[in-house]
Amino acid sequence: MSGHVLWFTGLSSSGKSTISSQIKSICPAYILLDGDIIRKGLCSDLGFSIEDRKENMRRLIEVCKIFVINNLNVITAFISPFDEYRRRAKEEIIKIGGKLFIIWCKCSLDECMKRDPKGLYRKALRNEIKNFTGISSPYEPPRKPFMPADLILDTEKDDVYTCVSKVIDFLERRG
Ligand code: ADP
Repeated sequence: MSGHVLWFTGLSSSGKSTISSQIKSICPAYILLDGDIIRKGLCSDLGFSIEDRKENMRRLIEVCKIFVINNLNVITAFISPFDEYRRRAKEEIIKIGGKLFIIWCKCSLDECMKRDPKGLYRKALRNEIKNFTGISSPYEPPRKPFMPADLILDTEKDDVYTCVSKVIDFLERRG
């Protein structure tokens, strides 16, 4: 038996950390891998160029595989902007007998810029941060022609509680 991965994706400020940390507090057995924390430690040598983002994703997939092989369930909260790596993550986890569900925190760029809890969009607009997703680096939404999300959370319309409930319902339906 292997574990599964809840692979959150979405723009910065779309709600990935907020929702995933709530899921973790309801289901403490999940291993939570948050992009900000991984970037400060395991991937502190990487920047935000396309190449570094890809390496960041490659390492994340490898870490997920180690947990899944050990039958542990994982939540990842990374922007994860590229279809290629979301697809690769899913394929590699399936290959080792696990499951990976892509959960898209869908929120317009305008709303994310309004929220901007860490002031990152303001800095990106002033060009103080380079290659910022949504401003100066692309985000490929997980919908056709790319691999579609398994679950879409409309974090602009629904409140945090509703989004968290939708994840829990989804997990119950998937057994
Ligand atoms: P991310 O991890 O995607 O960068 P964060 O979770 O750090 O995003 O920030 C999202 C911000 O949006 C928080 O300030 C949160 O309170 C707010 N927010 C408003 N509505 C929602 C929602 N439905 N789901 C998640 N966050 C929301």
